[in-house]
Amino acid sequence: MIASFKPRARTLMGPGPSDVNPRILEALGRTTIGHLDPQFIEMMDQIKQLLQYAFQTKNELTLPVSAPGSAGMEACFVNLLEPGDKAIVCINGVFGNRMVENVKRCGATAVTVEDDWGKPVDPNKVEAALQANPDAKVLCFVHAETSTGARSDAKTLAGLAQQHDCLTIVDTVTSLGGVELKVDEWGLDAVYSGTQKCLSCTPGLSPVTFSEKAAEVIRNRKAPVQSWFLDMNLVMGYWGGGAKRAYHHTAPINALYGLHESLVILQEEGLENAWARHAKMHASLAAGLDALGIGFVVKSDYRLPQLNAVTIPEGIDDAAVRGKLLQDYDLEIGAGLGALAGKVWRIGLMGHSANAENVALCLNALETVLIEMGQNIEKGAASKAVAAAVLS
Ligand SMILES: *Cc1c(COP(=O)(O)O)cnc(C)c1O
Repeated sequence: MIASFKPRARTLMGPGPSDVNPRILEALGRTTIGHLDPQFIEMMDQIKQLLQYAFQTKNELTLPVSAPGSAGMEACFVNLLEPGDKAIVCINGVFGNRMVENVKRCGATAVTVEDDWGKPVDPNKVEAALQANPDAKVLCFVHAETSTGARSDAKTLAGLAQQHDCLTIVDTVTSLGGVELKVDEWGLDAVYSGTQKCLSCTPGLSPVTFSEKAAEVIRNRKAPVQSWFLDMNLVMGYWGGGAKRAYHHTAPINALYGLHESLVILQEEGLENAWARHAKMHASLAAGLDALGIGFVVKSDYRLPQLNAVTIPEGIDDAAVRGKLLQDYDLEIGAGLGALAGKVWRIGLMGHSANAENVALCLNALETVLIEMGQNIEKGAASKAVAAAVLS
């Protein structure tokens, strides 16, 4: 007989999922009620309000798509693009390439703007692409590129799009709750995120928000949205109908309890305080890594605090180190993706994972493993450097 699945606890310091706050795990186990129960409808309204706070928006069309971040991505593309449309897509890592795939599958054309992995999207190249393609309907870019740890200037990029009367689709899967993100102030149009990164919730939901301009485009489409499930015209009837909610699909009831709790936690801490905590934990981690002789892929000016892509020291076996961290310390860090596979580790400090205990665990474990593998490091160097950084 197969027994119940009871995994060992791990500390999650990779590119997501991040450590889930115990309050969220507790919320997930609460009694399941019907999705049209008045109590549940009230909770859905609260989730919407809490998401508006997290995204810093008043957008009416703000809700969690009942599927992971990739589904939120797809929801933005299939709703805004129709066959024959043109999209400018910025690529500076793995997720920009996925955007191109989405554009093509909508029957639209992608004009790409490429930057090196580890660099932010270059606004000058975007400006040139907007000038050369006055018929472009949307500008698409990733705010926080999880494959490299680079942050792009979403405010400037969105400003350029507005000057050219172009909508924006923005990936904020890794930025939401971790670094400054202001949907209304920056004028972002279709924005998607995920629950398992800096919201520290379980994976499987994708918060999205659409500006009034984007909602208008969706309402006035010529062709119906190719995906029935992700068609916002239909989903709106379920999430936006007040007490008169029309059945579209059964919401993942307990998963939404978890999201509600994670957003309550974010509200209690305060968005600005959460951003500051990520920055502070990053500074500690960076000081310790420096003492271990480990450098960053991304320059500090545009480095994401929550995703630290660091260069694997010469002669060190990537998989062996990650295996040992998991085996001996129950600690997960991420491998490199795409062009950076085998060359970097990705150390996440996302949401609940961004705390001083995790920073210390990761640095001490990494230090010991590297010394065991013959690296010339003085035992205790990392924690000394962290203490010096914290006290300075
Ligand atoms: C994780 C991630 C996604 C995909 O989210 P899933 O929940 O894994 O589907 C999309 N974009 C970025 C930038 C991400 O980091």
